[in-house]
Amino acid sequence: MLVAFDLDDTLYKEADFACSAYREIAALAEADFGLDPDGAFAAMAGALSRKENPFDALEAFAGRALPVAEWVRRYRIHRPTIALSDGVGALLDRLKVQGCRLAVVTDGRSLTQRNKIEALGLSRWIDGDNILISEETGADKTLPDNFEALERRYPGEQWVYVGDNPAKDFYHPNRRGWTTVCLADSGCNIHPQTATDAEHAAQFTIREPEELPAILEKIQKR
Ligand SMILES: [Mg+2]
Repeated sequence: MLVAFDLDDTLYKEADFACSAYREIAALAEADFGLDPDGAFAAMAGALSRKENPFDALEAFAGRALPVAEWVRRYRIHRPTIALSDGVGALLDRLKVQGCRLAVVTDGRSLTQRNKIEALGLSRWIDGDNILISEETGADKTLPDNFEALERRYPGEQWVYVGDNPAKDFYHPNRRGWTTVCLADSGCNIHPQTATDAEHAAQFTIREPEELPAILEKIQKR
């Protein structure tokens, strides 16, 4: 069995990445403009939680124009302080012991996603060849390519994709005979989980990573 995971808001909380970047940007705001770093951080984090633009909020807090383009770049390239979501490490341990092949299929910039993967220590469980990042492969999840590549690598296996975003995570795997599993939003996801139609919806939904092995057992018996 191949179990592939989405990265952001599946293996860890993307809001944690954002807050990690905000801390770095708040330090820049203090060093370059004398802003109170705690206030700068709170302005950005507050905007994120209201789904507003954090940099607009930071400029409003500062009462002046700031080098936003450069700080967006720093956001993307910073080395984040993030951790796997509760239960994910134990889940990966368990799947590995059970002989599952593990993979990551993620959309995003190579450097940003690589920094996250390194910070999370995913190489402990997942071979480098099985980490597929859209900017590196040239295909994001609106295309079947990365899923196809894993099918070619593991022909005849059961393929499972675990993600969080019905807008794009499950459509191609569903069409290609994969089992799809959605990790339900605990309340702080970046992307909403409103499934548009059955083709985009996951076949299973779990609230906690610990619930995945029972689903894998169920489909193995099919
Ligand atoms: Mg995601």
